[in-house]
Amino acid sequence: MAPEQQVCEFVDACPMFAYFRQNARRVYLMLYCRGDFHVCRRRSLLLIGEPAPDGLLPYGGRLREHDRSLGVPLDEDRNLAGAA
Ligand code: SF4
Repeated sequence: MAPEQQVCEFVDACPMFAYFRQNARRVYLMLYCRGDFHVCRRRSLLLIGEPAPDGLLPYGGRLREHDRSLGVPLDEDRNLAGAA
C-alpha cells in the first residue's frame, strides 16, 4: 500500500504564497497545503491540467475579494509578486 500523501504536490512552486505575509502563509499552509489540500480549488484545476490564476485562493475566493483583515493581500506584496 502506498504511503498516504501528507502535503500538496504543488507546494514548492505555488505562486499564491508570494501574495501573503508570513502569518497568512502559515495559515494557508496549515489549513490547506499541509492539511486538507484535497479541497483546494487551485490544486483541483492543476490536477486536470487547467491553469490556476495566481489570485485564486484555496477556498475558491479571489484575492481582490478577500477580506484584508484575514491576512492581506498587501499592495507591496502584490508588487513584489509582479501582479498588476
Ligand atoms: S494553495 Fe493549493 S495548490 Fe497551492 S500548494 Fe496549497 S494546496 Fe497546493
